[in-house]
Amino acid sequence: MRLARFPRRRYTPGPTPLERLDRLSAALGGPEIWIKRDDLLGLAAGGNKTRKLEFLVADALATGADTLITVGAPQSNHCRLTLAAAVKEGLKCRLVIEERVPGTYRADASGNNFLYDLMGVDRITVVPLGADLGAAMQAEAAEVAAEGGRAYVIPGGGSNPLGALGYVACAEELLAQSFELGVPFDHMVCASGSAGTHAGLLVGLTLTSSGIPLTGVNVRRPRAEQEGNVHKLAQETAALLGVEAPARDTVVCLDDWVGGGYSIPTDGMVEAVRLLARLEGVLLDPVYTGKAMDGLISLARSGRFRRGERVVFLHTGGSPGLFAYEDVLRTGRR
Ligand SMILES: *Cc1c(COP(=O)(O)O)cnc(C)c1O
Repeated sequence: MRLARFPRRRYTPGPTPLERLDRLSAALGGPEIWIKRDDLLGLAAGGNKTRKLEFLVADALATGADTLITVGAPQSNHCRLTLAAAVKEGLKCRLVIEERVPGTYRADASGNNFLYDLMGVDRITVVPLGADLGAAMQAEAAEVAAEGGRAYVIPGGGSNPLGALGYVACAEELLAQSFELGVPFDHMVCASGSAGTHAGLLVGLTLTSSGIPLTGVNVRRPRAEQEGNVHKLAQETAALLGVEAPARDTVVCLDDWVGGGYSIPTDGMVEAVRLLARLEGVLLDPVYTGKAMDGLISLARSGRFRRGERVVFLHTGGSPGLFAYEDVLRTGRR
């Protein structure tokens, strides 16, 4: 396999479970819903960034880095997992926090924010929405160099071609499980944020001729902009692997479930998070998978996913974020 040519650290002992959600499927009364449990990936509390970090951290170690630097929102799962990987590898870690919604960063906040502190982050620098994030990370890297260290900068969400390889690998893992179980899938649904997950999956599903259409559910950007981002990263990822890029018309990023904006709760998100918790004991998250599952449920209810079709939902993790949204999830009031 081409992927084996790329250095990789291993943070999860084997494939993540692929499970049928019987009670959710019965409640929706249409398609058969399955879930790929990437919330159970390795490193602290798991989630999709773990697969990307396997390739990114291997590259960081190859360059002789002693410090990882990355960027994310105040409740960033990506920052939590980058920090966890750094801790595990004996590296230092600095985080640049982009305050996308003014006034939302609180050093004493719960959820992922608390975990930055618990895992001993070396430095947190908060910048406002619109700041040049690349420049902010380079400034941190320069400081590390001035102190005699060597930094490795990981882009937001770990979403560059090397990171996206983690989701090419996930597509191959899923197809092997589908074959083993004798269960073919008709659709796949994932959250679409910084685009690495969506782009990597699409490249993997394309190069294997899986024939499974992938629907991304946006958590931040309008449809056209997000589709452009995903297609560009898919092209770059395919080029890195030396395979043909997915066609533009296979990139689908629906923006109907974003609501008021990134990380802002919606009624549909609250319903989806409660439904999965109460029917399946599966913990979604308020920012990504809650909105993506809201999209899947809406598509099932509207008949876009038909009775008898098998739909697999990628659970990308994020449950620590639940604890920063306790009030809205308890009361349903936004
Ligand atoms: C980052 C993240 C996503 C989105 O993945 P991208 O690769 O950034 O598009 C989805 N779900 C969770 C829980 C995440 O943390």
